[in-house]
Amino acid sequence: MSVLVLADHDLGALSPATARVVHAVAELGPVEILVAGEDIAAAAQSASSLAGVTKVLTAEGQFAADSLEMLLSTLAVRYHYLVASAGSVGKDVIPRLAAKLDLMPVTDIVAILGPNRFERPIYAGNALQTVTSNQSKHILTLRASAFRAAASGNAAPIEPLDVSGISSAAKVIAAHRTQSDTPDLATAQIVVGGGIAVGSAEGFQLIESLAKKLGAAIGATRAAVDAGYAPNDWQVGQTGKIIAPDLYIAIGISGALQHLAGIQGAKKIVAINTDAEAPLVKLADIALIGDLFEIIPQLIAELDKT
Ligand code: FAD
Repeated sequence: MSVLVLADHDLGALSPATARVVHAVAELGPVEILVAGEDIAAAAQSASSLAGVTKVLTAEGQFAADSLEMLLSTLAVRYHYLVASAGSVGKDVIPRLAAKLDLMPVTDIVAILGPNRFERPIYAGNALQTVTSNQSKHILTLRASAFRAAASGNAAPIEPLDVSGISSAAKVIAAHRTQSDTPDLATAQIVVGGGIAVGSAEGFQLIESLAKKLGAAIGATRAAVDAGYAPNDWQVGQTGKIIAPDLYIAIGISGALQHLAGIQGAKKIVAINTDAEAPLVKLADIALIGDLFEIIPQLIAELDKT
């Protein structure tokens, strides 16, 4: 029952999401990892060090979603499970692969209950669905944040693939990156989130200051993003990123269902809000009732003392 995991990597580094996916699928069978893209040597080495990995396949070159799907479909015959994280690449490639192989993908998995039983959230995270799939092959995406990371210390062999027959109808013209020195939101251990109450893009600098002190990633509600206070890629929730940090500090956030859909994996929640009746305050492990513009500077001052 062999498993192929499509690695996530960026700027030459393996994403922490891949270690989590590997740990999750290790119980299904021997795990091989496919690292495809440019400048992948270091990412392939990191993949090879993950516990449970028996082989790393590398495919050097520029891959768009269609060529990645073509590559995976040529490899598919060897595996029972073809798996990616439910990140932007996995969400792009896995449905194409499933259509090509005429199989039903099971997406956004948060628990693996058995070789063909998977749990996934539905209705914006308000219910969990158990899917039993009797297909011969399983095409899966996993929410990496729901799983622990595989340990490192392994040294699986690395095998380059011949990709000369793989082509793409798409051409990458340019890549525009957001510059950030804060951790990746989807895999961060601490996230500081700001809502519309932060009031402005300048107000978000206060959120950023607190996040930097804590080594945290920054999140925002859709209301704050729509108002132009925070960039789109900070949005957390049903139509934003799904996070599962050890600690989520929600500042001036009411706790609308669509926001809660993105934070269900958070282990501890601290809410800072003027309204003691706000849904997120009721859900929080710790609530600080008061004005964020008074509480955050006090928190930063206290952290400066440590
Ligand atoms: P509000 O709900 O207005 O809450 C502001 C909070 O700040 C209140 O609790 C208030 O008491 C508090 N406050 C005010 N002043 C202060 C102060 N000085 N100090 C401290 N606290 C203060 N939203 C998301 O976040 N993510 C999504 O992915 C998302 N997807 C959506 C998809 C759809 C289809 C729809 C219809 C909506 C979606 N939304 C999403 C929007 C969602 O419904 C809410 O509108 C949004 O989350 C509210 O954001 P908020 O908490 O910042 O604002």
